[in-house]
Amino acid sequence: MKKILLGLGGVAVGLTALGAVAVRLPSVQDRLFDRALEKNFKPRAAALWTGDGLGVFFCGTGSPLPSLKRAQTCTAIFAGGRFFLVDSGTGSWENVQRAGIPGDRLDGIFLTHFHSDHIGDIGEADLGSWVAGRAAPLMIYGPTGVDRVVNGLNEEFALDHAYRTAHHGKAVAEPRSAGLAFTQFDGAGEARVFERDGLIVTAFAVKHDPVSPAVGYRFSYEGRSVVVSGDTAFSDNLVEASKGADVLIHEAQANHMVEKMQAAAAKAGNARLAKILGDIPTYHTSPTDAARAANDAGVGDLVLTHLTPAPDNAVAKRLFLRGVDDIRATHVKLAEDGMAILLPKDGGLEFQSY
Ligand SMILES: [Zn+2]
Ligand SMILES: [Zn+2]
Repeated sequence: MKKILLGLGGVAVGLTALGAVAVRLPSVQDRLFDRALEKNFKPRAAALWTGDGLGVFFCGTGSPLPSLKRAQTCTAIFAGGRFFLVDSGTGSWENVQRAGIPGDRLDGIFLTHFHSDHIGDIGEADLGSWVAGRAAPLMIYGPTGVDRVVNGLNEEFALDHAYRTAHHGKAVAEPRSAGLAFTQFDGAGEARVFERDGLIVTAFAVKHDPVSPAVGYRFSYEGRSVVVSGDTAFSDNLVEASKGADVLIHEAQANHMVEKMQAAAAKAGNARLAKILGDIPTYHTSPTDAARAANDAGVGDLVLTHLTPAPDNAVAKRLFLRGVDDIRATHVKLAEDGMAILLPKDGGLEFQSY
């Protein structure tokens, strides 16, 4: 037996050595690169925009606290061939591209509020969808203040747009469809902010003081519904607006972990970081409170996102979710970048990963 194992080990070493030699050959390098390109350029994730109900793709599940595995906040919603983002945090457009989602199909971005971790990648989303063939300026929906964000970004990227047109020509970079447009609403109470071909988007005020306005969104299509909380402390408005939704995508901050981080920062002499970590618990929702909100609203599934701090290994995940089981034992998930949810119109729900 030992001899056989030793023999197999020898074969494995031999193959590895052969592989190391092979990748030095230009013909092998070319073949591997061509194969990778073929795979990358193929449109993928088609189930998201060809489905007859709603689709969700997590393009960013992190927060301002850094994570190597998560872009900042972004949730993509698909309905009847339309494709929207809710927020566009730094690094999130790369996840959209990596999943093979065609950028030209982007119909707009709904902003929950204007913290940097929600707006950092709007410029990338604009440019990426524009050169991919978007036919009109990208519509940015948001509460009062969205005009300032859009006007500022249009100014910031005006030179870049001009360079692209000069370089690639109008057939690829048409100036009339470059940049951003906006639809602004006051963000107080609850209001229908989009309605077309059966897709209804409702905005509702949440609690993120001193950030105001701050909103969440409910997407309803073909009898299915998904709610995105935005950034909020436990919010009665959110519970009301989420009643009976299929999926509640709720932000979550593990305050029991943040408290430990605050103490560690203070101990290390970083008073500034300790002060910031001490300020944030009151304007976010703990995982257990998010579970409570999901139960109160009677939603089907709860998916936690905007994870603070990012739980990027098995131990951190358990620690993050401590106490949630006692409140909601099933139908709770931590979002990951690249995760998707399909909600067909006839019911049911399927998690996928791209
Ligand atoms: Zn925020
Ligand atoms: Zn945030």
